[in-house]
Amino acid sequence: MIKKTAIYPGSFDPITNGHIDLIKRASKLFDTIIIGITQNNRKPSFLDIDDRLKGVKDALADIDNIKVMSFNTLLVDFTKMQNAQIILRGLRAVSDFEYEFQLSGMNKHLNPNIETIFMTPAEQYANISSSLVREILSLGGDISAFVPSNIEAILKEKI
Ligand code: ADP
Repeated sequence: MIKKTAIYPGSFDPITNGHIDLIKRASKLFDTIIIGITQNNRKPSFLDIDDRLKGVKDALADIDNIKVMSFNTLLVDFTKMQNAQIILRGLRAVSDFEYEFQLSGMNKHLNPNIETIFMTPAEQYANISSSLVREILSLGGDISAFVPSNIEAILKEKI
């Protein structure tokens, strides 16, 4: 049987309970999920790559079939290099669709052998975004409902 490996790419700046819900669901469908954290030197991130790597690893420590890595190459090249066949993306609302549809189309053009699969989170996580978590944090709001406790600690230390 062919083992199915999916890459779940993103900036995870920070990882939220929405991302985690998606990863938990996906971990039951695929043999391995590789969380690919983008390390984009042109787009500055709030958390540096080491904090994001450690934070994501600790937050997902109870899931067996996942790996956490960073990458700074083309997503399709990273996917191929990891012997993965699937790119996993999340869809929260219609507003995500246009960008995600374009992204998957371009990735399919770059490598037609790689499929993009979309999943949706449980309803209570559909409104959570990393950018809003950063904004609430910067204004002194309570982010404990949106991120796991180890991430909340990293974020609070950062500000
Ligand atoms: P990017 O910078 O690539 O958009 P993100 O870390 O923001 O990276 O998101 C990674 C993926 O997770 C994207 O497909 C995004 O749509 C999805 N995602 C983000 N937040 C949620 C959420 N609350 N529930 C489900 N999927 C989500």
